[in-house]
Order: sequence, then structure tokens, then C-alpha cells
Amino acid sequence: MPPYAFFKKKFVPLSEAKVGIMTHALHYGTACFEGIRGNWNEKEKQLYIFRCAEHYERLLNNCKLLKINVPYSVDELCRMTVELIGKSGFKEDVYIRPLAYKSSEAFGVRLHGLEDDLCIIVTTFGAYLDDKNGIRCCVSSWIRPDDNMIPPRGKITGIYVNNAFAKTEAIENGFQEGIMLTSDGYVSEGSGENLFLVINGKLVSPAAYDRILMGITRDTVIKLAKKELGLETEERHIDRSELYLANECFLTGTAAHVTPVIEIDHRKIGDGNIGKITKQLRKLYFDVEFGRNKKYLKWCTPAYTSRVGDTKAKSRSR
Ligand code: PMP
Repeated sequence: MPPYAFFKKKFVPLSEAKVGIMTHALHYGTACFEGIRGNWNEKEKQLYIFRCAEHYERLLNNCKLLKINVPYSVDELCRMTVELIGKSGFKEDVYIRPLAYKSSEAFGVRLHGLEDDLCIIVTTFGAYLDDKNGIRCCVSSWIRPDDNMIPPRGKITGIYVNNAFAKTEAIENGFQEGIMLTSDGYVSEGSGENLFLVINGKLVSPAAYDRILMGITRDTVIKLAKKELGLETEERHIDRSELYLANECFLTGTAAHVTPVIEIDHRKIGDGNIGKITKQLRKLYFDVEFGRNKKYLKWCTPAYTSRVGDTKAKSRSR
């Protein structure tokens, strides 16, 4: 089956979903997007979409920031996503990319008086970072924008130029990821991930006021750490030097899952190996994400009403 996309209010083959060269969002970054994972559970022959509703809630909030009118509710968007996966028939891990954008073919910097569209694309997707062995990071020379520049809590396409600067700088300097600071020098986040430290057995993560995207993986990890490991997360300012002295560090994100960080700016984190708490949280997160932990199935939307290739199985509701 060829992959399909939802585009201009219809399901169409992905190859037919094309925009014109004058599209407003292409010139001015006037769009917002999501990244959602669908995780293939081989044992159950099911594809679980992880925290689908929460991703669409965030998208609709971001549309509000950008004055993009999306005529669908969160439930409708989740159903459309399920339908899209069904049409394409994926039986492997996928990445779902909804994009709401200013679709008018018009010049002029503004948010008002323009047409909007929402498209949803699904592609196959593997590992984003080397989440098995841990990664080496640098502190980026690029600073996270303040809320009254471009709000970092909005997953706005235009702001991602900032992230791209940080990522390319890190890669070209031999690291796997760059950690950005705020304009007042506190730790913010990676180019596509939130950050956690373990300091003396406690979890610490930059708070909303430190220009982070309010990550859904971050929220999942905070909840799992509390419920399953009895660990509270302290959300506060983090100094740059705390990065170097932490016992453990890991990054979280839909693409990155829970990725251990073993070195920052040529300093080993802890003893330079993946930390104990990081290991525990990563295992917990994977089990939850793939629908293997039945306690958290409420976060997993099954894309298929029955096991693929097994018509006897019952559908599982959220
Ligand atoms: N920060 C940035 C800048 C991101 O792009 C992402 C990925 N969406 C995250 C954090 C993590 O967010 P989430 O866990 O919701 O994917």
C-alpha cells in the first residue's frame, strides 16, 4: 500500500500532497507541528500511537498562538490519524507529523487574513539518537529565544532555525547534540529534547520558565519516576556547571525516547557510563511506549481494531 497523507481536508497518496512555492508558511515559518510516535508491538501485532491526544492538544494550543484555525477536535484528529495509518497499513515503528500552516499563496509578514490548512504525514522511523550507548553533548553557543521573541513552548516551525543552528554546530564539532542555555545563562534544552539531571539521587529538570518546550516525554518520565520509582522531579533553574557535576544526565523526546548523556563539553557525567536511574527510566519508558506495561495502556491508542492478520482479536479502547 502506498503511504497516504491527510491534506486539504482529504486522504490522498503522499506523492500527491504538494504545496505551491508561494505558500506563506514556507517563506515566514508560520506553521506549527507535532511529532508523534506509533510503536509496533510485534507480540500483539498492534501499532500503538503514544499519547496521541496530548500531542493534538498541544498542536491546537500552538494553532491558537499562531491564529491558525483548525476545524477539528482532538478526538477527530486522533481518529483521522488512526484512519491514515490504517490506509497505509504500517507494521513497523512510525513517526506521525501533523503540520498546521498558513496555506495562502501570498507575500507579506503577518498572521492575520490568511488561509490555513492542516496536513498529517506518517513515515517509518527508527532511532533518532544513539539511545543505547549514550551520547556526547556540548553546550551550544546558540541561545534559546525568550517567550516574547518566539514562544519556545509553541512548536512553531520558524523557531526551529534556532534548533537547527544548535544541532549543526554540535555535529560539526564532533558531538551528537547541543544543549542550549537561556538568555540569562540557565540550562534550557537540547535541539529536539528536554533535559534531566540526577543529582544526589534526585531528578532535576529545567522549569517552563527556562524556555523549554513542555515535552510530552518529559511529562511521561516525571509521572513514571514518581509512580514507579518514588522519585519527585524538581523543576527549577539549572546552572551550566551543574551539568558537568551531575551524577547522571539524560534527554527526553518523542524521537529521542530516553537518551542517556555520558559526556558534556569533554567532561564525563558521573563515571562516564549510563547511570542507574537513567537505565531504569529508559526501560520503564520503552515498556510503556510499546504498550507492554498494561498499567499505562491509557496512553496508547491502538491503530488497528484487531491484531493485524488476526481477525478474532477484540479491539482495545483507550
Ligand atoms: N524540546 C524540543 C525543542 C523539541 O523539538 C522536542 C520534540 N518535540 C522536545 C523538547 C520533546 O518534546 P516531546 O517529548 O513532546 O516530543
